Amino acid sequence: ADVLALEAIRKSYAVGTPVETEVLHGIDLTVCAGEFVALIGPSGSGKSTLLNIVGLLDSPTSGRLVIDGTDTTRLDDAVRTRLRGHAIGFVFQYHYLISAFTAVENVMMPMLVDRGHADRQMERRADDLLDWVGLSRWRDNRATNMSGGQQQRVAVARALAMDPALVLADEPTGNLDTASAEGVFSLLRRINRERGTTFVVVTHNMALAERCDRIVELVDGRINAERAGRTHEPGA
Ligand code: ADP
Ligand code: ADP
Repeated sequence: ADVLALEAIRKSYAVGTPVETEVLHGIDLTVCAGEFVALIGPSGSGKSTLLNIVGLLDSPTSGRLVIDGTDTTRLDDAVRTRLRGHAIGFVFQYHYLISAFTAVENVMMPMLVDRGHADRQMERRADDLLDWVGLSRWRDNRATNMSGGQQQRVAVARALAMDPALVLADEPTGNLDTASAEGVFSLLRRINRERGTTFVVVTHNMALAERCDRIVELVDGRINAERAGRTHEPGA
């Protein structure tokens, strides 16, 4: 089954003004359940714009976007927001943790925002996720007291809080040193393999891209090439 289907997605900025510019020129892409896809391409090629559209943070100018079986073309805002919260997890280059909150509190945030979850249930789930990312012992540490790599792993646990079908990651290792980047990427790969979560990861790191199932290259707002990555992860 496809977790994601894009048909003829176009995006223009500044629509109706003299500087109207089309930056995505008809993107067709499907991603099936359990796939781990790298999105690569030069700066300005439209990767972030595409990821924002897929993440329901922005709307295409035209085209069709189906997420986890739901056609998002004509959803009202409340349904859209709910779908974003439940079906999609986000990991950004910068972790955007709340620095005054502890690791476990940060992981609980999406469940708190969603409301209606019992405190004990939220906490148990957050602890389970911190265990997944190897940070159980840091549960009560404030985000500011953790290393860059640890903070990004907390952000990964937070992205999984609502058990999304799809995780979108925009340069998740871009701010990290080589060893921490390796740790965070391997973690995403392990989550994909062991939990079956589907990933679309924007990266400039070709060595990491090669370790994805598929590499999709965007150039000037078009898909320029698609090919398989090197599918076997060392030690997997
Ligand atoms: P990438 O993520 O591959 O670097 P972007 O999606 O950020 O590419 O940008 C694609 C193109 O869209 C670029 O030419 C960029 O200048 C333009 N662009 C991005 N965001 C906006 C915006 N909010 N308004 C106008 N143009 C934008
Ligand atoms: P990162 O590479 O993510 O910044 P570190 O280099 O701090 O993280 O940690 C690398 C590994 O060692 C991780 O698995 C982390 O959980 C573990 N670790 C980090 N600090 C300690 C510590 N003080 N005691 C035990 N294990 C630690």
